[in-house]
Amino acid sequence: MAASTIDRNRTDLVVLEARGLTRRFTGVLALSNVDFRLRAGEVHALMGQNGAGKSTLIKALTGVYPPDAGELLLDGRAIHPRSPAEAQALGISTVYQEVNLCPNLSVAENIYAGRHPRKGAAQLWRIDRARMHRDARALLARLNLDIDVGSLLGRHSVAVQQMVAIARALGTESKVLILDEPTSSLDEEEVARLFAVLRQLRDQGMAILFVTHFLEQMYAISDRITVLRNGRRVGEYLKAELPPAALIAAMVGRELSAEAGRHEAAGVADGPPLLAAGGIGRRGQLHPIDIALRRGEVVGVGGLLGSGRTELARLLFGLDRSDSGTLQVDGQPVRIDSPIDAIRLGLAMCPEERKHDGIVAELSVRENIVLALQARLGLRKFLSVGRQQEIAERYVESLGIKTAGTDMPIAFLSGGNQQKALLARWLATDPRLMILDEPTRGIDVAAKQEIMAEILALARAGLAVLFISSEMDEVVRIADRVVVLRDRRKIGELPANCSEQAVYHLIAAVQ
Ligand code: ADP
Ligand code: MG
Repeated sequence: MAASTIDRNRTDLVVLEARGLTRRFTGVLALSNVDFRLRAGEVHALMGQNGAGKSTLIKALTGVYPPDAGELLLDGRAIHPRSPAEAQALGISTVYQEVNLCPNLSVAENIYAGRHPRKGAAQLWRIDRARMHRDARALLARLNLDIDVGSLLGRHSVAVQQMVAIARALGTESKVLILDEPTSSLDEEEVARLFAVLRQLRDQGMAILFVTHFLEQMYAISDRITVLRNGRRVGEYLKAELPPAALIAAMVGRELSAEAGRHEAAGVADGPPLLAAGGIGRRGQLHPIDIALRRGEVVGVGGLLGSGRTELARLLFGLDRSDSGTLQVDGQPVRIDSPIDAIRLGLAMCPEERKHDGIVAELSVRENIVLALQARLGLRKFLSVGRQQEIAERYVESLGIKTAGTDMPIAFLSGGNQQKALLARWLATDPRLMILDEPTRGIDVAAKQEIMAEILALARAGLAVLFISSEMDEVVRIADRVVVLRDRRKIGELPANCSEQAVYHLIAAVQ
């Protein structure tokens, strides 16, 4: 454990340094004059909210995006990697989130192929198998992994595959190891195993940089933390200097005041819940949670990115199947194994990705609006064009969708109006419960206000609403109750009119 006694502030331990890194994408300053230092023998966490610039910084350090301005130094010498392969040759190894290994090749072949990136698989047959296996075993031994290197990679767990990816990334000359969200698909035991490996590499002197959205994991493994916000570096801290409340304040750019933890009792709607979930969860995505939604109630979901917000929405709507727990609608046990089941029970969901899962760009406003209703009715009860027109016009009117007509291609509408059309699509199914995942993302302030007002009016008319947004101020403003998630777990509930700070306080209370 000699490494843990190193004075980690010594600047002579800096291996990789960035000075004044700036990177612009059309219309976005993704990195603005960012300084960054990574030292030998440390695990350094890069933290920041979605869009803060974490991935861009990693890509600038590893030759994916050459910076527009600024310089990179490795061991005090300027470097200019123009590809990940060049960075790797310099000793900077990266494991990206998507592990791109071949499940049909052996463990050794995967490691070997990765260490000679330009040569390709064909050349594997010409090499000395015994030597390849010996080399692979030696690399895995460094990671404390004792597996049959001749076995097919696909036979192993995701965690082992990730170790193999790390082994492949680690050349013999590697000084720096960079991991972008390495734990997102691992369970607790697998995370513990990965962390044991990272600690061992750190204690061998490796400089390790990693990105995670899980606060507890970050505190478990890291020595130092750099926080980014809106493309700027907020600061560099030793872990002990940055308790959770300070970390979150740095990430979101607001102070958490001390008195913000107090509340009055919840004023929740009476009556039996419309939907009650007991212990529903899904391994690797969401720990079992209890949640109840009542008629006329807006339940907000508070949590940072990666807290399990979208996973919860997907489980309730049947897009993913829960592997535990029970569901009741109106006090009756039900199963929701698919969105069709959910729609039949009166649930509706506006997904997070408007462009991807939401609007159908090739269809008209009218066709987009009647889509879910038509799916609910089934194809044998086809809605006539006249009936479609009627429905579409009703929602264009009531939601104030700005379009030259219901036959316009929806692609012609602004983001806010597309979002309203999506809302209309689900309202047309006459749902009893609406799940809204980021209903106001990427739309202008005025459209945002209108959509929020519409949601509140619908709830007052008896709709149950689950409202998910990464804008915490929106969540606390609209919600009758806020369910707070952290690290894929429900950690509490806060009543109506709670402050944004109260939610952050709860999230920050890492035990
Ligand atoms: P993070 O990883 O912290 O979530 P990113 O580095 O991915 O953030 O993104 C920072 C900002 O740069 C965001 O506003 C994002 O939309 C923008 N951005 C990132 N990559 C690109 C790209 N290839 N083209 C355009 N904009 C991009
Ligand atoms: Mg990222």
